[in-house]
Amino acid sequence: MASESLERYSRQIRFPQLGEAGQLALNNSRVTLCGCGALGTVLANHLARAGVGSIRIIDRDFIETHNLQRQILFDEDDVAANLPKAEAAARKIRAINSTITVEPVVTDIDHTNILDLVGDADLILDGTDNFETRYLINDASIKLGKPWIYGGVIGSEGQTMTIVPGKTPCLRCLIETAPPPGMTPTCETAGVLGPAVAVIASFEAIEAIKLLSGAWDALNTHLIMVDVWDWTFRHLKVAGLLGKVDCPCCVQRRFEWLDGGMGSHTTTLCGRNAVQVAVRRSQPLDFRELAQRLEGIGVVRHNAYMLRFTTDGYVFTVFPDGRAIINGTNDVAKARTLYAQYVGS
Ligand SMILES: [Zn+2]
Repeated sequence: MASESLERYSRQIRFPQLGEAGQLALNNSRVTLCGCGALGTVLANHLARAGVGSIRIIDRDFIETHNLQRQILFDEDDVAANLPKAEAAARKIRAINSTITVEPVVTDIDHTNILDLVGDADLILDGTDNFETRYLINDASIKLGKPWIYGGVIGSEGQTMTIVPGKTPCLRCLIETAPPPGMTPTCETAGVLGPAVAVIASFEAIEAIKLLSGAWDALNTHLIMVDVWDWTFRHLKVAGLLGKVDCPCCVQRRFEWLDGGMGSHTTTLCGRNAVQVAVRRSQPLDFRELAQRLEGIGVVRHNAYMLRFTTDGYVFTVFPDGRAIINGTNDVAKARTLYAQYVGS
């Protein structure tokens, strides 16, 4: 290993369970990080500093001021610059460690693109905030035989589990069906504490370091549940579920989320009074042309990553792939109409 690398990572190489061989394995590994909000920024930060060689960061959203309380890679300049989370995170990561490869992808993960986004990764990391995407990740993981690490946090409470196909139960062995939207607390309704997220993301990161460096014997085999407010720490022994439940995914190998039979493409963004409208286009949108069209109707500005248009109490954030987040409504039909009206179909 080059002396610069030995020096940069010397403090973790000195940790005997990792050593130089473990470090080399980290440097040669690739991860796909699904979601770069609170969990995702902590994960990206840890993995970049630890020297994971290639990190693909996927996120569909842009940065708002209320994200700064817990999304540790972002600052006020990123909000002012209207940067998508994936792009802003990639810039920070490059400044932290210029020797690794970072690939930002601004898109909504769905059944049409997930296999391409995770196909070349050694490990998939969960930085999402919804079960729809987690079931999709779980399907892709089992289908491709790639490990993934689940993490979720609400309030002061979080969970994590490491899923290795064939060696551990999968997410659907534990929770066969996602609770319907609106039935579970979310960060918007129940709030969320930054340190609680950092704890769970750090658990995910250490599991990633073990997995990628080959220390599989040390992996977590439980569903870990932590509440940082009242100091409860529970291990649910789930290993025995492997092969014992008739799981539709890892036993029957029916990939219902991956097949596109589940989930929707137009979604209300929970608690945010916003709807995401996804329209796939063959060509990227021409922001200059769209901005000219919208100029007389409302306030419009754009950069290379997104176009922001405000009119009549609605704020449109449009991405080059045609996807838009429309703030000011929770009504999916209304959002579709607004999209057709202003962006065009
Ligand atoms: Zn399963």
